Amino acid sequence: MKNLWAPWRMSYIQRGETSKKDCIFESGRGKNYDKKSLLLYRDEKVVVLLNRFPYANGHLLLAPSRHVGDINDLLAEESAALLDLIGQSVAILRKHKKPDGFNVGLNLGKVAGAGHPDHLHFHVVPRWEGDHNFMTVLAEVRTIPEHIENTYDLLLPDFQELRLSRTK
Ligand SMILES: [Zn+2]
Repeated sequence: MKNLWAPWRMSYIQRGETSKKDCIFESGRGKNYDKKSLLLYRDEKVVVLLNRFPYANGHLLLAPSRHVGDINDLLAEESAALLDLIGQSVAILRKHKKPDGFNVGLNLGKVAGAGHPDHLHFHVVPRWEGDHNFMTVLAEVRTIPEHIENTYDLLLPDFQELRLSRTK
């Protein structure tokens, strides 16, 4: 049964509404891609951004198109679409960046390191032999040798092709 007496709920709801305005996953709304906001892909269920503060070159953020923060609020078809897009993103990064492995993960809540706790998102981080270990990956922002715009241009055609194949 639902608890109707929940005063904490109001501030939660209000916080959600104000933060949606400057939520990075809402930027480029209505567009399938947008270089300015590093938006690589959007359909009705999933959004893919290139992380502006990457831990490694090609670090992607994948989120449901809907502004939801809790993994338990995801609809089954959103979860399925997210997992599918994670796989497709790994394939695209593998093709262009030739990494030796990947870290794929989810930070739930600010205390766990979520930079945007109000909008759930997965990290897809390509890894190479001899790069820093994952703890330092999580702890600090690295200097990325390649310009982020170049990576965007490199990956965008594959994400556009992917979108065409999925919306047929
Ligand atoms: Zn959002």
